[in-house]
Amino acid sequence: MTVELAQESIVDDRPVIFLDIDNTLYSASSQISQAMGKRIHAYFVSLGLEEERASELHHKYYTEYGLALRGLVRHHEIDPLDFDKKCDGSLPLEDMIKPDPILRKLLQDIDRSKARVWGLTNAYKSHASRVLSILGVDDLIEGVIYCDYSDPNFSCKPEPDFYHSAMRKAGITDPKKCYFIDDSRNNVAAAQRLGWGRCVHFCEQGLETVEGGKPKRIGADGKEALQDAVVIGRLVELRTVWSELFVKDS
Ligand SMILES: [Mg+2]
Repeated sequence: MTVELAQESIVDDRPVIFLDIDNTLYSASSQISQAMGKRIHAYFVSLGLEEERASELHHKYYTEYGLALRGLVRHHEIDPLDFDKKCDGSLPLEDMIKPDPILRKLLQDIDRSKARVWGLTNAYKSHASRVLSILGVDDLIEGVIYCDYSDPNFSCKPEPDFYHSAMRKAGITDPKKCYFIDDSRNNVAAAQRLGWGRCVHFCEQGLETVEGGKPKRIGADGKEALQDAVVIGRLVELRTVWSELFVKDS
């Protein structure tokens, strides 16, 4: 896997599958989002904010920008790399997720003559790299599109710039050839607005997720979540919805 930015000169006619990583490649029941949420809250408090104000701003920035860190950088001038070290970097991921042979087989069965496979995350590259390595799929991912915290003006989902830069880095020019799966409705909707061809909204069945610190029931209402986006409750359903990309005799 190449986590570093790919050469922007790469051009390849094959479609690209962009896989969201967090709460998509592993179950939300891992509680990683919640553990991350607690660390982010503590980070807000460490800036001198009262508990209640910290919660308010955390939710506001997540809702407004798709990422609490985006608001922290914009309004509090914090160093994203310091945030990454204290929040994502301190997560005991090895205790929260484990190698996933079913996911590995799923990714192995994508016909590489028909598609390339990239990860796409709203975190920094080190977090993505740790997750993919623990899941045991890092060798099956060509590269990762991540939030480049070394640039104070980094982009993140669902900002259009993030998707445009994903296409540039993966060397694909036709948005119709972009396949995308994400557990966030907003992120899928943003990809659809840019004309990405085959978007899937992942609504893990029967679980609760936390968006901006507020518990939200998903699954039951997932089927009507997005117009024109396929909704699936289990990742293995990709074999059906993207059947043209999978080897036939698996
Ligand atoms: Mg996600």
